Amino acid sequence: MPAETGAKRDIRALDLESLRAFFLAHDQQSFRADQVYQWLWQKGAHSFEVMTNLSKATRELLDAYFVINHIAVDRQQRSTDQTVKNAIRLHDGLTVESVLIPTETRSTACVSSQVGCSLDCTFCATSQLKRMRNLNPDEIYDQVMALDSQSRLYFDRPLSNIVFMGMGEPLMNYKNVMSAVDKITEGLAMSPKRITISTSGIPKMIEKLADENPKFQLAVSLHSAQEKVRNEIMPFSTSFDLETLLKSLQYWYHKTRSKVTFEYLIWKGINDTQEAIDALVAYAKKVPSKVNIIEYNPTDSGDFQAADQQVIERYKQALERAKITVTVRRSRGKDIDAACGQLANKLVPLDDKN
Ligand code: SF4
Repeated sequence: MPAETGAKRDIRALDLESLRAFFLAHDQQSFRADQVYQWLWQKGAHSFEVMTNLSKATRELLDAYFVINHIAVDRQQRSTDQTVKNAIRLHDGLTVESVLIPTETRSTACVSSQVGCSLDCTFCATSQLKRMRNLNPDEIYDQVMALDSQSRLYFDRPLSNIVFMGMGEPLMNYKNVMSAVDKITEGLAMSPKRITISTSGIPKMIEKLADENPKFQLAVSLHSAQEKVRNEIMPFSTSFDLETLLKSLQYWYHKTRSKVTFEYLIWKGINDTQEAIDALVAYAKKVPSKVNIIEYNPTDSGDFQAADQQVIERYKQALERAKITVTVRRSRGKDIDAACGQLANKLVPLDDKN
């Protein structure tokens, strides 16, 4: 860690043990590490200056060796339905988006896990952005903290829920997402049950996750229980057939006893048939699950159109008849491209559109 060469490390890349070792190596007591850790991960400090229970000499020592990389809310838009979309600038100049979704009783943060996405869901605006890199735990943590502050400011309450449903596939950034969840539950004193990891469905990673017996919720973007249709709209899924996905979800339930939520968009001419409905019912019956039907928002490509309301109703009735819990969710923030599948770094400055 040669401070003299100017190559400072991001202090939030260090775990507590490494930080303790740093202090010991510099003839300081190791409990200083715990104090610094608290500043970083419970109080969200973005400078050493504010760490007032450390001596000036200790703060200078930290400053000589480390930086605290942090995000900045670059641009922001508010929807007529109060949804807030943020363009978040990372320390290296790249951008991701995070959305705050308020309802009467809840404030939900929708956060990104990667810059762009390596998957290729044809209905998703993010898929048009090349995956640049994974987000670090601190970058995910900072998004949540920024949205928590916004929720307190605009709606006078802290965040109630967090969903990993922004840009990227969270299970393709497994280690950093897990680490961020730990820091978030600690920093916000939030129950992990209020956190949902939403994946496009990567069986091996779902099993790996299940083995850790996490306390958060798992959602899978299913969108079709018909192999051929799913392969067309989510081409990466040709590598993971529906049966293998199902087995991984059964394994998840066996390990965690937590129901899976299937996220489901319905499009005209794609999955609006009776066969599609029957396939979903049959699939969902094979694993303890709920289905969340989400209203689709067209992206610029215009190839997909939302299904008619009658079709949504038919899906709902069929699932209810099979005793599968189903919710129909109106998409939020449509007017500012903040809805599901619309995040594509298109934000304009606040003054231009609000
Ligand atoms: S839907 Fe999710 S996994 Fe699929 S391309 Fe978009 S961000 Fe990636």
